[in-house]
Amino acid sequence: MSLYEQYPLSVYNSLTKKKEKFVPITPGRVGMYVCGPTVYSDVHLGNVRTFTTFDGFFRYFRYMGYKVRYVRNITDVGHLVGDADEGEDKIAKKARLDALEPMEVVQKYTNGFHDVMKIFNALSPSIEPTATGHIVEQIEAIKTIIDNGYAYEKAGSVYFNVRKYNEDFKYGELSGRNVDDMLSNTRALAGQDQKNDPLDFALWKKAESGHLMHWPSPWSEGFPGWHLECSAMSTKYLGQTFDIHGGGMDLKFPHHEAEIAQNKGCNHEGGARYWVHGNMLTVNGRKMAKSEGNGFTPEELITGNHKLLERGYSPMTVRFFMLQSHYASTLDFSNAALQAAEKGNKKLMASLALIEKLAAPGTGAVNAEKSAELKTSIEDALRNLSDDFNTAKALASLFEVGTKINTWYQNPAELAVIDPEVFAFAIQHFKGIISEVLGLVPEDADSTDSSLLDGTLNVLIELRNQAKFSKNYALSDKIRDDLKNIGVQLKDEKGGATSYTID
Ligand code: AMP
Ligand code: ZN
Repeated sequence: MSLYEQYPLSVYNSLTKKKEKFVPITPGRVGMYVCGPTVYSDVHLGNVRTFTTFDGFFRYFRYMGYKVRYVRNITDVGHLVGDADEGEDKIAKKARLDALEPMEVVQKYTNGFHDVMKIFNALSPSIEPTATGHIVEQIEAIKTIIDNGYAYEKAGSVYFNVRKYNEDFKYGELSGRNVDDMLSNTRALAGQDQKNDPLDFALWKKAESGHLMHWPSPWSEGFPGWHLECSAMSTKYLGQTFDIHGGGMDLKFPHHEAEIAQNKGCNHEGGARYWVHGNMLTVNGRKMAKSEGNGFTPEELITGNHKLLERGYSPMTVRFFMLQSHYASTLDFSNAALQAAEKGNKKLMASLALIEKLAAPGTGAVNAEKSAELKTSIEDALRNLSDDFNTAKALASLFEVGTKINTWYQNPAELAVIDPEVFAFAIQHFKGIISEVLGLVPEDADSTDSSLLDGTLNVLIELRNQAKFSKNYALSDKIRDDLKNIGVQLKDEKGGATSYTID
C-alpha cells in the first residue's frame, strides 16, 4: 500500500472554500500547474516563499508515491505595468531602460530565478513553458473563445466578454466577487474606452507603434493578454481538467479568476479541480513587494547587506523559517524569527547527524509502549503533512523524534528496548521527510566540503598550468591522468582556462 493511501491528503480548496479529500483524476498521478515569475527583475524573498511552498507540495506528492507532472511557467510577455490591460509590458520597459533586447532581459532574470531556486534547494519543475513559446496555442484559444461567443474584437484587440460569460457561468466563483459589485467599484480607467465594459479583460492587444514584442494574429500584429498564457499552457500540458493549480494569494483575482473564465469559455471545463493559494510574506504586516521598497533579494538575505537585516542568514535557515508556518497563513519577516529558525534548523540537523552514531536498537527486551510512542510521533509527522500540508505541525512531530534520538545517543539503554522494525520505519521517514519533503539539507558541512574541493582542484589546475608553461609535460599529463583516475575530468577551454567535471 502506498503512503498516499495510508495517509491520504486533504487540502484546502480555494474554489470550494473547504478543506477536501484530495482525489486525483488518474489514480497514482498528480498534475500540478503553478504560476511562475514574470522575469523582469530579481526575485525577492516573497516570491521565494510562494515557490518554496509549491516545491514542498511537489516533493510531498513524490514522497507519498505519486507520479507528478509539475508545470511552472515563465511569464515573458503580456504582463503589463499595473497588472491590467493598459501600459507598457514589464519586460519591454526593463529592456528599454537597460538598453537590452527583451529576450536578454528574459534570459537574465530566468537564469537568476533558477540560481535562487537552487540555492533554496527547490527542485526543477517537470516542464517550464514560456508564454512567448506558446503564442500559437494562445491564438487558437482566443479563436475558440470568440467562436463560443465569449469574446469580441475591437480595433485589433480582443476582449473577454465578462457579462456574456456570466450569463452562462459564474464570473467571481473563485474570488467570491460579484459582477455587479465589481462594476460599481470600477472607476473609469484610462484607455478602457476600447472595451465594451470595464470588467472585460484583454485576450489579445494590438501593439502600438514602437511596442517591442509583437506577433501576427488574425486581429492585429500584437501580443497576448497576461492571463491567457496560463490557460493555454496548463491545458496543453495537463489537459482541460487537471488536479492542482497553485500560486500566491495575490493572483486569485483577477489572474486566476480570468484563467477559469478563459478555460470555461474555451471548453466548458474550469481547469484545475483544486485551487491552492500560498499566503504572503510580509514585513511589519505589509506584503513584501518591489513597489513597496520592503523587498530584499536572497543574496542580500544571505550576506545580511540590507537595512532590514541585522545579519546574514543561510538558505536552509530561511527554508526552515518558511516551513515553520502554514502556507496559507501570512508570514511576517523579522530578525528574531529568523534567529529562532536558525536554532531550530540546527537542532534538527544535529539529530539527523546523530542517527549515524546510534547503537543498535532492540538488543534488550522490547518495550511495546515506548516503541508505539515512537511510531505515533513519526506517523503524526506524515499525518500532519497530509493535513493540508501542515509543515509547522509536521516539524513539531519531527522534533519529538529528534528528542528521542538525542536521548538514545546519551543513553543507549533507552534504544535497546525499541522494536527494531519500528526504529527502522521511524528513522527512514525522519530522514526522508526532512530531506526529501521539507528539502532541508545539512549546509555547513556541505558548503565547506564543496568549497574545499573546489579550492583544492583549482590549486591542482594551477600547478598543471605551471608544469605546462615550463614544458614539464610529463608532470602536467600525470596531474590530468591521476585526476581522471579518481573521476575528475579536466577540460581545457578555448580561451586557455581549464574547467573540471566530477563523475
Ligand atoms: P510575479 O513575478 O510578480 O508574477 O510573482 C511571482 C509569484 O510570487 C506569484 O505567485 C506571487 O503571488 C508571489 N508573490 C509576490 N509577492 C509575494 C509575497 N510578498 N509573499 C509571497 N508570495 C509573493
Ligand atoms: Zn498564471
